[in-house]
Amino acid sequence: MSRFSLVKCKAMLKLEATKPECCTGCGLCIIYASTLLTDAPSLSNSPIKVVRTLEKPEEFSVQVDEAKKHELLAINEVCPEGVFEIVSDDNDK
Ligand code: SF4
Repeated sequence: MSRFSLVKCKAMLKLEATKPECCTGCGLCIIYASTLLTDAPSLSNSPIKVVRTLEKPEEFSVQVDEAKKHELLAINEVCPEGVFEIVSDDNDK
């Protein structure tokens, strides 16, 4: 496999919040993601946002910055509730 092929394969994977209904709002992913990308743990300056939904305040919405999804694969191992999955990014074809 050429070096280009290896880079292409890695770029085709991204982090996706596929089970936001399982989120408890613990904030681990927010802190860890900001540490991964900026070396500074932060709740406000993170590529992952977790907010309560307006429709159902007991539930959370989990949003991953679209531009950073390829750099956050490690977050899949951090969430204790299994909210995330590493999926193929069809936009990279
Ligand atoms: S680590 Fe998982 S459970 Fe905790 S806030 Fe993030 S998505 Fe929700």
